[in-house]
Amino acid sequence: MRSIEATTLYFEQAANELDLSESMRRLLLTAKREVQVQIPVELDSGEIASFIGYRVQHNDARGPMKGGLRYHPQVDLDEVRALASLMTWKTAVVDIPYGGAKGGVAIDPRAHSRRELERITRRFVDVVHELVGPDRDIPAPDMGTSATEMAWFMSQYSHYHGFAPACVTGKPVEYHGIAGREEATGRGVGILTLKLLSRLGLRVPGTTVALQGFGNVGSHAAMFLKNAECRVVAVSDASGALTRADGIDVMELSRYAHDNEGRVADFPGADAITNDELLSLDVDVLIPAALGGVLTAANVESVRARAIVEGANAPVEADADAVLAERGITVLPDILANAGGVTVSWFEWVQNRQHYRWGIDRVRQELDRILSEAFEQTWQLSQSRRVPLRTAAYMLGVGRVARATVLGGME
Ligand code: NAD
Repeated sequence: MRSIEATTLYFEQAANELDLSESMRRLLLTAKREVQVQIPVELDSGEIASFIGYRVQHNDARGPMKGGLRYHPQVDLDEVRALASLMTWKTAVVDIPYGGAKGGVAIDPRAHSRRELERITRRFVDVVHELVGPDRDIPAPDMGTSATEMAWFMSQYSHYHGFAPACVTGKPVEYHGIAGREEATGRGVGILTLKLLSRLGLRVPGTTVALQGFGNVGSHAAMFLKNAECRVVAVSDASGALTRADGIDVMELSRYAHDNEGRVADFPGADAITNDELLSLDVDVLIPAALGGVLTAANVESVRARAIVEGANAPVEADADAVLAERGITVLPDILANAGGVTVSWFEWVQNRQHYRWGIDRVRQELDRILSEAFEQTWQLSQSRRVPLRTAAYMLGVGRVARATVLGGME
């Protein structure tokens, strides 16, 4: 199932529960604006190349649209469309005043020099700057982009519109960014995992956790959970997987990965297992925080975790999700589980608009408050309507956008 189909399926399940009319469904599923642009750029060799860029602005009923900008060779309109709608529901679940958008450029960033990437980013801004902006649509880093591209984005946008740091988030901390943005998604995964454990009646100390992915999301989630006295018994990345029954020293592993080009393989403080074995370990919580589509109809029967927290986007395919629900394995869905990043992006935007600087303690405290409230609302809805957490999260998100649409009126 393609990602657009899975998102639409979850949307329809929620819309059925909410008893939404056909016309409201059509309105909410249709993007407000989709643009495809040509980005002509002079390469370092002097050759002229042209790339395709996209921006899908899905919905702005609840506020300016918000979503990442990815650089990846397989970026296409279908994928960007699905991810844009996901952002609309995600910002609504955590109740931050944004809509949803997504964009991308179909390039392999590793095949370009830094100077070329800067030119591509600036030319992209040249063609979309009228459509985006602090009160319209605010991009952020995504796959293949980082704080560096966001700084170029802001600088180029400022050529047209003057000083406007709130036009983009995920900027470097020393260039109008915010403390705590880097850790935010992983920390949020950790905060929400603790909430879930408590609702499942599991005592936190000693709870066993397996994590797939030790990048930005996985490593910060692992650190947070280890500090909360969970036992991180397995970790994997693209280089391999590791296990240790009495818990991996996550700080040590982090230092090791740092010294080994980010790779966890051959870490001396744990035993090697395969990446597939990690997914079927007998643990309390499994956190897929690497890629989409890792739990499928083909491998879902081997899952032995009590709960799954979706750190990555769409790591559980829709047919596997149905099997997990039948088996009574709780899944905390991506639109809530990894919403910590967009939440702190909102703080960055607020900070920029206030011309003020938030400290890390305030960022963490507010992140905890917002995610905890969203978790409780999702949990309560799931209990009262007897639906899985994913359906409840979509009901919250879709319901809020539908209400804002009606309240805003059509005239
Ligand atoms: P990242 O590039 O920093 O890390 C990805 C990790 O996954 C790396 O450790 C990599 O080695 C590992 N990996 C890749 N292939 C693997 C495989 N086959 N088996 C095991 N591990 C593998 O990326 P990230 O920012 O941590 O994002 C991870 C996921 O979370 C993505 O799906 C992303 O879309 C999603 N996400 C990220 C954020 C954010 O703020 N970073 C926000 C929301 C969602």
